Amino acid sequence: MRPIMGALVATAAIAFLPATALAEDGESVLEFKLPSKATAEQLIKLGYDLGDGLDQSQPGQVKATIVVTPEEKAQLEAMGYPAVATIQTPADVDALRAERQATIDAEAAAKAALDGAAGAKTRKAAVGTVRAQHADYWEDAGGRWISIEGTTTEASVTNPCPVVNNRAQCAYTGPALVASWYGADGQQVGTGTLQAYLDTDVTPVAPYLYHTGKFRLGDASTIGTPMPTTVKIASATGDVATMAVSKWVGNGAPEYAQGFKQDFNTHYVDPQEGYARITALADEFPNIATVQALPNKTAGYQRKAQTIVGMSTAYTGQLTPLPAAADQAKAVVVTSKAWGHEGGNGIGIRLVNPGAADEPLVVGVSNNRMIRVNLATDSAGAITTTAKDVVDAINGNAQAAELVTASLYRTSTGTGVVTPGTATSLLSDWLKAPASYPRGPQTVKMLRIGKHQDGTKTGVFIYCQEHAREWGTPLVCLETAERLVRNYGTDPETTQLIDNLDIFIVPTINADGAAYSMYDNNTQRRNMVNYCASNPTGNNDPFARNSWGVDLNRNFTVGSFFDGFQGAGNVCTGDTFAGPSELSEPETRNEAYVQTTYPNIKFAMNVHSSGGYFMWPPGAYKPTTRETLPYPPYGTLNYFDQTAAAVLDRIYNYRHTAVLPSQTGPVVDVLYSAAGNSADEAYYSHGIVGYDFEIGASKVLPNGQSQSTGFQPCYGAVGTGGGTGTCNANLVNEGHDEGMEFANGNYALLAEALAYENDTAAPKVDAVTGSDRAVTFKSDEAASIYYTLDGSTPTTASTEWKPNRPREKPDPVVVPVGAALKWIAVDFKGNVSAVQTKAFTTTPGDVGGTVPATLALTLDGTPSFGPFVPGVEKDYATQTKANVISTAGDATLSVSDPGHLTNGAFTLPEPLRVSLSKTTWTAPVANDKVDIGFNQLIKSTDPLRTGTYSKTLTFTLSTTQP
Ligand SMILES: [Zn+2]
Repeated sequence: MRPIMGALVATAAIAFLPATALAEDGESVLEFKLPSKATAEQLIKLGYDLGDGLDQSQPGQVKATIVVTPEEKAQLEAMGYPAVATIQTPADVDALRAERQATIDAEAAAKAALDGAAGAKTRKAAVGTVRAQHADYWEDAGGRWISIEGTTTEASVTNPCPVVNNRAQCAYTGPALVASWYGADGQQVGTGTLQAYLDTDVTPVAPYLYHTGKFRLGDASTIGTPMPTTVKIASATGDVATMAVSKWVGNGAPEYAQGFKQDFNTHYVDPQEGYARITALADEFPNIATVQALPNKTAGYQRKAQTIVGMSTAYTGQLTPLPAAADQAKAVVVTSKAWGHEGGNGIGIRLVNPGAADEPLVVGVSNNRMIRVNLATDSAGAITTTAKDVVDAINGNAQAAELVTASLYRTSTGTGVVTPGTATSLLSDWLKAPASYPRGPQTVKMLRIGKHQDGTKTGVFIYCQEHAREWGTPLVCLETAERLVRNYGTDPETTQLIDNLDIFIVPTINADGAAYSMYDNNTQRRNMVNYCASNPTGNNDPFARNSWGVDLNRNFTVGSFFDGFQGAGNVCTGDTFAGPSELSEPETRNEAYVQTTYPNIKFAMNVHSSGGYFMWPPGAYKPTTRETLPYPPYGTLNYFDQTAAAVLDRIYNYRHTAVLPSQTGPVVDVLYSAAGNSADEAYYSHGIVGYDFEIGASKVLPNGQSQSTGFQPCYGAVGTGGGTGTCNANLVNEGHDEGMEFANGNYALLAEALAYENDTAAPKVDAVTGSDRAVTFKSDEAASIYYTLDGSTPTTASTEWKPNRPREKPDPVVVPVGAALKWIAVDFKGNVSAVQTKAFTTTPGDVGGTVPATLALTLDGTPSFGPFVPGVEKDYATQTKANVISTAGDATLSVSDPGHLTNGAFTLPEPLRVSLSKTTWTAPVANDKVDIGFNQLIKSTDPLRTGTYSKTLTFTLSTTQP
């Protein structure tokens, strides 16, 4: 305990008691409310243990964190200083210590399991509980990295757990997983603890998804040193899983050919600039490009004109601060009947003090523009009119009601007596786009690129800026479009793409919101429609105008908010407002129109920002159960992974941006649930593969730290600024570069679509046998594999080879003795392989099962003597092995006459000699190894001709008792 410093000290107000000493561990950390800093200083003098800081953020009081025993707490409260919050109790500390020790023990146990795997096992392993699912390596500006994922079947989480801000604060209680990675020589080069990933969006209990960890292997100076080859993931309960490391990006995706034209953006664009650019492209390249107006005009870059009168301060368009309670009660919100640009702007209203006693409330309109409200007064000449009175009077006046609607402020009942205005207040839509920017409903335009726009070619739909504030996204669409049309006929790849695909590009889906974000409210995400206007609880005043609109990527019909899915809402000011009903918005109906009208569209890319993601369905789940929309077949998920490999590698080509493995996959597994999103609509309603980009991957700095890009990073150099102000030096050219690298990604996506268009070959799948007849399949392309073990012919209705959980790898198929494994494979195009079979023979004496007659001989590779040195006598030797499998009663191995090695017309003088370690068997045999020795004598006078001497020998395995 700290020494007691003070004797009893009296102040004018209160007697201070000295702190009493007690044992340490009975102390709590509490927050106390003190009247002043001086009080805190006196308490310190008395020996109280105040923390390092005082909270003086609220005027008239000081909050101090004080370490107290129960007695000290009572003393402080007796002095009049209440404890207002508990920071920590002794029980908290005990729990913290226990948690710490449990974590240490668990990690130590997992490490022990790893050591056991590396050498002799020292404890009984919980076999089969751990699975390794990802081990990915890459290099970027921050150095060398590995990302590792695995799962344990022994995972568990606390239940119940507190829910804070709609997030389930559960703790993972299963065994710890530790990963280690190894070089080609088998030496461990690093180790780290994996973190359990719980989906805390799911309440009341956050489910366990998997364990993951990203580890920096070295800074950029270590680039070029070898990547680890193997990863082991160990559980504290003893099981260990192993997997090979893959190179995630940097695998040598195609670079553009010499002379390829690119880099067409110079600045962030507003929607009209984007539409003008695609229109100009269609005009310039009419042989391959057409521009089309989508059928549903937007609700409009427009607002009703509004103002607020009756408050103590005039309303001049401000968004903050919100009026104080007294002003809320006096506020009269006035909204024009006409849109601002169609006559609402400039309507005037003034609440006038008549300056005389006993005046009545009177509303008059002059010039059909100016509304004058003469307020009522009492016998003393004081104004008596309330906000409610004004609202009723305006709405009850036919002339005024033709121009405007009056309403109370949000939930106010309008009981406050209004303050007259000193001047006329003019209604405004408060829109700030230049007058040249069109008001009212907008036409959304789409560019169609293709030599054959007749529906016969595979269609790809690339659309950008559903979310208004994502300024980089239209640049991705525009850069993609310009690269395509401007390289046609000169760049071979582009020419192939345009000759064989049908490409649809919309630079901005959300035209109204995008204009609003560009000119009015840069953080606007949604469109501009004000559904709060019909909301009785208000938010229909100009203070709220930046919180209106529908989240277009939540307004679709599949897995929607209206279907009970997670990740959208029905609050008109919510940032993920789903709208009043599915497809209520013209922008989303435009997307549905494209997907319905062009059934040849097979692939879609919904370009968003930010964070650096590449995702696909499913994208939504139910809130409490986490029941997702159905996962596509495993072969289709493999196809998505195959596409991702190509796309991410090509994004990487531009400036070594790595879209992370943990941010690549189904939306629900790597981001969150987005009820009613566009990609799910494409996939589940139209059979279109709906991909999503989130451009703007966090920029990795040389020190290994990451810099988030936000929605509007600076476009160009320092000093050019972004949507939010001054350019961050780490993000120089970020806006420009995101457009370039994700246009690369779109090129790879188109190349994959072309490969799909041209794919007529069935997948080739091998069954690879591990130990104990455990078979895994290896395919030359992404495929769904269906198999049987009962001898029946497999179909697509047979068992699919797939993992137990999302993102895992499938377990091997264990083939029972005597059974035949039969399988077919279907690629994403639908090409189906012939039925293949693998059987495992019984050994003689086993019960049941027939053995096909087998006499199999295989040789290991081609033996070589190495170089012969002329003029030096030497007997050269080499060897190989033969593998013998025989179901026969006996077997004999023989070799043809070796003769002499020859090199064209030249023959070695000395004969080739061959020896066999075993040549006869008197019973069936499996995988018996025979050593085959070869000898060749070269004498000092033997003439040798430059070149290779060789000889083909025939080995024969024969039987007399088949
Ligand atoms: Zn978005």
